[in-house]
Amino acid sequence: MHLTAPSSAKRVAVIGGGIFGVSSAFHLARLGVHVTLVTEGALASGASGRSLAWLNSARFRSAEYHRLRVIGIDRYRTLASRNEGAAWLRFDGGLTWDADDASNRIAEAYAHEQAIGYDCQLLDAADVAKVTPGINAAAISRQGAIFNPGEGWVDLPSLIDILVQEFKTLGGQVVTHAGKAVVDTKAGRAAGVLTANGMHMEADAVLVATGAAVPDMAKQAGHIIADDTPIALLVKSKPFKLAVRAVLNTPNVALRPTPDGAIVCDSAWSEEELNRGSDGTCEVKDETLRRLLSEASNVLEGNPALELESYHCGPKPVPGDGESVIGPLEGIPGYFVAFSHSGATLGLITGELVAREIVTGEMSPLLANFRPARFAQKSQALAS
Ligand SMILES: Cc1cc2nc3c(=O)[nH]c(=O)nc-3n(C[C@H](O)[C@H](O)[C@H](O)COP(=O)(O)OP(=O)(O)OC[C@H]3O[C@@H](n4cnc5c(N)ncnc54)[C@H](O)[C@@H]3O)c2cc1C
Repeated sequence: MHLTAPSSAKRVAVIGGGIFGVSSAFHLARLGVHVTLVTEGALASGASGRSLAWLNSARFRSAEYHRLRVIGIDRYRTLASRNEGAAWLRFDGGLTWDADDASNRIAEAYAHEQAIGYDCQLLDAADVAKVTPGINAAAISRQGAIFNPGEGWVDLPSLIDILVQEFKTLGGQVVTHAGKAVVDTKAGRAAGVLTANGMHMEADAVLVATGAAVPDMAKQAGHIIADDTPIALLVKSKPFKLAVRAVLNTPNVALRPTPDGAIVCDSAWSEEELNRGSDGTCEVKDETLRRLLSEASNVLEGNPALELESYHCGPKPVPGDGESVIGPLEGIPGYFVAFSHSGATLGLITGELVAREIVTGEMSPLLANFRPARFAQKSQALAS
């Protein structure tokens, strides 16, 4: 392993009260350092509060990214075994099918998942009910569906709540509703955090885990992080007689059960129908909400009438090359970032690995492909 910094971080400030910030703060506190977690509004008020949160590494990814995701799922399995029967963390599998047209890659995805040892079964529509309940077999395309028995989902606000309680028990400090915070740099290194409401916290290291705001904050510090963050919509139904247990990924809707017996759902097409206001707000058409619930009903057994309970809309953090951005900003000692798509799947493992890097100065080989410096290296390569 490569040493980049002496193990001198005794006080760490974390900015961002989503799953990355909270998980990292919790793991830092477990390592015995003094940690303050600062966030703009309430905890889980960003993407973590409106996530489908399917725990998976399905389909096609780089080998390194797949490895990180599978280890991420493993951490949730440990958590699930310590919280048997929890309504907020379930491993009831995932079921995926594609449209019945030229874009269908189910056979290819199945061959790939088998080749890399990702647990999968290719099923005809008629056989799906034998492995997982509550699905309308007539909606499944003739190419069949892949069932991944090792997948699951997590209710991130519940998890954040539990981690924050444990963090506080370990002596961690939480500051919510602080307004926008910035990293205070002194003599070229991260020296603390300044909040919009005038608080100042000194620290030996700062982790910026502000979700969609990470690329802008890194830019202020002179670093490029390519950003492909879209605006996303998550719709929740009212509770109903729920039979489905798996996470469903289908051509027109992705959905999963919720702890209170409803579903949440999203889709790619509904994201495209959102209007983004110049002030960062987003406008959702009634027709989009109606169609999303109708697509959800269509894939469920008995086509239940689904009523709208709530919807949430806002940025979904996605790095420009699709893979995670985790670790130190080169040239600014003590300045770390965590920015990723699939932050539900990666939330526990990212917090664990980045906390260890901050405290020990030892860089994890698991994160070697996911460093922020890769974007600077790419733009230098393009320029030369
Ligand atoms: C619709 C949708 C579906 C998704 N589906 C999946 C899925 O199926 N599987 C999966 O693994 N992942 C999924 N994700 C992604 C996952 O939810 C996110 O990657 C994860 O929640 C991001 O967590 P975060 O902590 O990085 O950011 P956030 O949860 O956005 O938290 C960042 C926090 O930082 C705060 N903040 C921002 N700027 C500042 C500042 N300057 N000062 C102080 N605080 C600040 C914000 O208020 C916010 O609370 C989905 C996301 C969405 C939106």
